[in-house]
Amino acid sequence: MNSRYTKSEAKTSILVVDDDKLTRTTIKRVLEKSGYLVSTVESGEKAIEFCLKSLPNLILLDLMMPGLDGYDTCKGLRTIADHKLLPIIILTGLDDIESIDKAFESGSTDFITKPLNWPLLLQRIRYSLRTRELFQELNDTQKKLSKVHSMARIGYWELDGDSYTVTFFDETKFLLGFNKNTCSLDELLFHTNKTEADKIRSCIGETLKSNTPYTLDHSFTNQHGVKLTLRQQGELTERHGKKIIVGTLQDITERKQAEEKIHFHRFYDQETSLPNKDHLQMQINSIVENNSHDKLTAIVNLSFDKLRSIGSTIGKDFINQFLKISAERILTKIPQIYEVSRISTTTFGFLINNMTNIDQVENICSQLIHLFREPVCIDDHEYHSTLSIGLTTYPGDKDTANLLNNASTAQKLCIADGGSRYLFYSKIMNDNSIKLISLETNMRNATTDNEFIAFFQPQVHTLDNKVNGMEALCRWIKPDGTIIYPDKFIPLAEETGIILEIDKNILFQSCHFARDLQKQSIGNIRVGVNLSAMQFTDTNLLTTIKDALYESDLDPQYLELEITESIAMTDVNYAIDTLKKIRDMGIKTSMDDFGTGYSSLSYLQKLPLDTLKIDQSFIRPIGPNAENSEIVRAIIAMGRSLNMYLIAEGAEEGYHYQLLQELGCDEVQGYHFSKPLAKEDFINYIKNHDHDI
Ligand code: C2E
Ligand code: MG
Ligand code: MG
Repeated sequence: MNSRYTKSEAKTSILVVDDDKLTRTTIKRVLEKSGYLVSTVESGEKAIEFCLKSLPNLILLDLMMPGLDGYDTCKGLRTIADHKLLPIIILTGLDDIESIDKAFESGSTDFITKPLNWPLLLQRIRYSLRTRELFQELNDTQKKLSKVHSMARIGYWELDGDSYTVTFFDETKFLLGFNKNTCSLDELLFHTNKTEADKIRSCIGETLKSNTPYTLDHSFTNQHGVKLTLRQQGELTERHGKKIIVGTLQDITERKQAEEKIHFHRFYDQETSLPNKDHLQMQINSIVENNSHDKLTAIVNLSFDKLRSIGSTIGKDFINQFLKISAERILTKIPQIYEVSRISTTTFGFLINNMTNIDQVENICSQLIHLFREPVCIDDHEYHSTLSIGLTTYPGDKDTANLLNNASTAQKLCIADGGSRYLFYSKIMNDNSIKLISLETNMRNATTDNEFIAFFQPQVHTLDNKVNGMEALCRWIKPDGTIIYPDKFIPLAEETGIILEIDKNILFQSCHFARDLQKQSIGNIRVGVNLSAMQFTDTNLLTTIKDALYESDLDPQYLELEITESIAMTDVNYAIDTLKKIRDMGIKTSMDDFGTGYSSLSYLQKLPLDTLKIDQSFIRPIGPNAENSEIVRAIIAMGRSLNMYLIAEGAEEGYHYQLLQELGCDEVQGYHFSKPLAKEDFINYIKNHDHDI
């Protein structure tokens, strides 16, 4: 007898079940000599009881026992969980095939006949234990594999090439939420959309025909109603002469969602969910790549005038909301525009495709400008903004790498030109845009070098012909003495925000000058200061005004602040509130350039204003015999009825002044009296004023 045993054998426990005491003790002795740990019981019932407490590594089970015989004991043991791999060797005195078959059916793994051949028994035991170990390893590997598949959400399937029946294995069934193992291909494809179903059918058909493996991503709504994205792979194999496609199915929903998130991050604006500049550039590239020369595409850059300045005070959320509403408006009202991208803080970019001529594009631009005559409503407030639209066209513009830049150059020049219009790109613009950039840099330096100087234009009272007021008008005076006028730098100063600094400067200079005139006993002359949209909506506005008055020691009644209709109409409620606060400080409020904007009479009544400044475009055309004076008459009558103080601008001729005097306009400003003057020149003018009337 071979008593050699391994370390693992020493730990191996064996249960011997036999009603015959002699057999039990003999087996125990033999096995213990071979190093096994042996327990014995005398019945089937006891064996089950034993195994419920602790599981041996192997059982030697007698077949013929009173009570539970070996067959039933074996069946009983197999029903106990975890005992499936337990080797059970039947000991039988019978060697007929029938009883051996019955023993296997009841779950035994091997048998040995009595009387026992000891060396053979030991070999059988070793063999059974080894088999069990291998099974265990296989089982563990399978479990691990299945865990990996379940973690990777991957499963297998097979399709019968004749019947088109699909069989699922393991994870596949779980993925699809099916509780059966097979179904027809049609039933399966019912859970995806038609286009994808057709694609899958055609891949399967192609694979069966020409043995080409395929990979395909598609959607799938599983039995529980969960929408998934699946990656399907299939390839042809032959089994028993039959064509079969074997494949995998992997749930890539999460990966797809992550990809979509990354895509969204890359090509969409996070704040408004509108497509971004990269997205637009991609569309432009694809148009250029497709090289479609038969139709015209306009590449458009659209910005909202003053939105940046309003937004910088009201806030980022406001700008976002404004843009979302505006994009929606453009898309619903202008069908030729199918997508609007946000390409900078306050700028949209988009394409107008399939145009046949420039007139069509111009027509759409006019529609766009018209569309924003209507205010944008946010939280019960109405905001007005005009548009600056820059465009270029493809294939007209041959500079294909810079189409978007060229549209942007045109748009910037549009802003510099005062906004509220559209402009097509042309090559010479690039030179201008370089000028624009250097203008911006120069302008920033000029604010620190105090090159922005207030000039003053007299306003003459029609009752006594005396200078009662003056308007401060900004001039940019270069170190070499060159004077730059507001129309050349104000639009860009507004777009870049430099205007805030300029306005503040002019306000302080104006208050100081008005006070100096009083101190020098030249006169108590009211000074009118223009407010930009940005300054008017600046949260520091009131503090800045207070500081200017305090620092100059000017009585507030000698300060008048001018805003234009477009500033007031951008946010009427804000304008009402702010003008009221300014007035409460004792300062006068004035509506500049009246008649050129949107103001209706009803709005004018609501705004806390002291003065109406009649725009010069109504005064200058008036002829010597009061020709073209109807509008001025109407405005003056209206202003009177509203109890407003009236100042007319742009009186260039003596007869302009006379008529305005007759019509009862309170004050008149214009070249007839004087152009805006530097401080010293203004003082001289006052001193000699009587001669000029
Ligand atoms: P505004 O406030 O309506 O100023 C009146 C403009 O008309 C001034 O042009 C003035 O020089 C001009 N003007 C006055 N009388 C006559 C006339 O009889 N004939 C003609 N043809 N023009 C006349 P200016 O100084 O070029 O200013 C243009 C605009 O620039 C101003 O219009 C105002 O809106 C803006 N602006 C000027 N200075 C400032 C400033 O300091 N801050 C801000 N935010 N805007 C300013
Ligand atoms: Mg003005
Ligand atoms: Mg004006």
